[in-house]
Amino acid sequence: MELLKNIVAVRNYVSQAKKEGKSIGLVPTMGYLHEGHLSLARKARAQNDIVIMSIFVNPTQFGPNEDLERYPRDLERDKKLAEGARVDAIFFPSAEEMYPSNFATYVHVEVLTEVLCGASRPGHFRGVTTVVSKLFNIVQPDRAYFGLKDYQQATVIKRMVEDLNFPIEIVTVPTYREEDGLALSSRNKYLSPEQRQSARSLYRALKLGEELIHSGERQVEVVKEAMSKEILAHPETKIDYIAINNAETLQPLDEINGKILLALAVWVGSTRLIDNLVLEV
Ligand code: AMP
Repeated sequence: MELLKNIVAVRNYVSQAKKEGKSIGLVPTMGYLHEGHLSLARKARAQNDIVIMSIFVNPTQFGPNEDLERYPRDLERDKKLAEGARVDAIFFPSAEEMYPSNFATYVHVEVLTEVLCGASRPGHFRGVTTVVSKLFNIVQPDRAYFGLKDYQQATVIKRMVEDLNFPIEIVTVPTYREEDGLALSSRNKYLSPEQRQSARSLYRALKLGEELIHSGERQVEVVKEAMSKEILAHPETKIDYIAINNAETLQPLDEINGKILLALAVWVGSTRLIDNLVLEV
């Protein structure tokens, strides 16, 4: 497996692969890899000749009071895991490589980024779409892989790819969960054993919401209230948002109908976790 530390090295690697007529799959990550990331890599492995994974803790997608500094990093561990998933190359740029001091250009997707995590984390998606655009231009993959755990992110990226005519297929991958339902996340590392127990409340609340809807409940507020109670029954939890929105437009619903997104963001101690389910009603 190759470790590519700068843009020139990626360009050389990719131009050789393209000369040989090989297809390229890109898996963008912030590292501290877990099975969720590896499920993306495996899907990319199955669909492409070459798999490139980027590992970059992207400063522009963190707010001033967020966890950029303490975000977990461990390249040696990541290299072994990526190699195990048969990744061909890791792109591991520095912040200066991606954002030189005269950097001044950002990509912004409107509307879809104004709700859910976009409302709680101003500027977050601008950072995501900017770095993903850069990665797309640097790597020029045929396909790029995104997890549905970050459902809004995947939706925003698909919009961007269509609007800006990136010749790239966006492939989404289902959320990979622990046995008790907790979605894998690099941030789970922050949780104490007690908080880890409380973190189960996210998936439990989503499943409770799903159950209520499947048994005929159509009032958004009734479902949200039940989900909220489930979460707050666990110690150290604080709700950032619970949303029942249209799964395509991401806009809030008045009545539960069609393809819907049940999404939530919950603080467990000082760790913010997100999760979601998509339902056809
Ligand atoms: P991150 O390193 O957290 O920015 O995530 C990199 C990619 O992995 C994103 O496309 C995420 O949606 C995806 N991902 C993260 N956690 C999971 C998970 N539990 N299941 C599936 N995909 C995930």
